[in-house]
Amino acid sequence: MDDLKYGVRDKRGDWKPSGRLEIAPFWSWPPKLPKVLGWLPGYIWPWNAFHMATALLYWFYVVPNVETMKSISWGWALWLYAVNAAAIFVFYGIFELRYYVQRAQATRFKYNHKFPGDTPSDVFWFQSQNLDNFLRSFFITIPLWTVVEVIFLWCFANGYVPWVGWQDHPIYLAALVLIAPAIHEVHFFFIHRLIHWGPLYRWIHSVHHNSINPSPWSSLSMHPVEGFLYHAVAFWHLVIPSNPIVALFQLHVAGFGAVNGHLGFEKLELTEDTAVSSEAYAHYLHHKYFEVNYGGEGLIPLDKWFGTWHDGTKEGDALMDARFQKKRERVNARAASH
Ligand SMILES: [Zn+2]
Ligand SMILES: [Zn+2]
Repeated sequence: MDDLKYGVRDKRGDWKPSGRLEIAPFWSWPPKLPKVLGWLPGYIWPWNAFHMATALLYWFYVVPNVETMKSISWGWALWLYAVNAAAIFVFYGIFELRYYVQRAQATRFKYNHKFPGDTPSDVFWFQSQNLDNFLRSFFITIPLWTVVEVIFLWCFANGYVPWVGWQDHPIYLAALVLIAPAIHEVHFFFIHRLIHWGPLYRWIHSVHHNSINPSPWSSLSMHPVEGFLYHAVAFWHLVIPSNPIVALFQLHVAGFGAVNGHLGFEKLELTEDTAVSSEAYAHYLHHKYFEVNYGGEGLIPLDKWFGTWHDGTKEGDALMDARFQKKRERVNARAASH
C-alpha cells in the first residue's frame, strides 16, 4: 500500500498520519448519531472481538472447574501461567515475526524508521531491547497477570463476590462487556498518571519507558508494581456485580490489548490493498514525548479533560510545547526561590 496517501514521511524516514486523533464521537455535542454508528464497528472489530473470543476460549477450555478453583494451588495456577505465556508468545510473536523480523512491510506506515533490534543500548538487559522486553514480560509481568487471574477466579468460585448469571441478566452483562474497554482506559489513565510522578517514575515506570521506540515485546515490559497494578483492572469485577467471563475479557483487554499501543505501525497490511488499523498512534506519542496521552485512544477522553491530549498534529505539538514551557518556568521559579 502507498502510505503517503495516508500520511507524510520526514527526511529521517519517520512516517506520521496526516489526520488527527479523534476522541470517541459520542463526546461531541450535539451528538451525531451517524458518526457514532459509523464508529461502532471499529470499536468492536477486530480487537475487542478478539479479546472476547479469547475470554470465551479460556472459559470453556482453559479455566479449571469451579470445585478445583475453590482452593488455590500451584497446579492450576501454573497451568494458567503456561497458557497465558504460550498465548502471548504466539499472539505478540506473530506481529514481531511478520513486521520486525521478516519486515514484511518494511517501514511503510512505521512511525519510527528504526527497528529496535538494530540499535543496542545500555539501558537494557544484555544491551538488547528485544531480549530485555521479552524476559521482563515472560518472567515478571505474565506471572503477575496470572496472580490477578487466580485471585478473581478463586473469589468467584467461593462465592465471595456476586456471580451474575447470563440467563438471569443477559442485557446487564452485555452492557458490562461493552463498557469494559472504558473501564480499562480509566483504570489505566489513573495508575499510569500516578507512576509518572517523579519518584514513582524513577522507581517503577522508567522500566517501561526505556523503550522509546516500542515494538511488540515492549508492551508488557514493566516493573513488577506496574505489571500487577495494570492487570488489577480485572478486580473491578469483584466490586461491580459481574461474571467471571466478563472479568476474563477485562483481563484480556489489558494483557492481549497492550500490544496495540506498541505495534509501531499505523496500519498492518494484510494484502495489497487491505490493512488493519493498529490504534497505536496515541500511545506511540506517549513513548516519544512521555508527558502526553496517559490514557488510550480517547474512548474516555481523560487526557483531553486534563489537558494532556496530543492529537498528532502541529497544533498538538504547539499545545504540548506550551505546557512543557510552563512546567519549566515553574520548576525554575521554585529552584530560584530556594
Ligand atoms: Zn507503553
Ligand atoms: Zn508512561
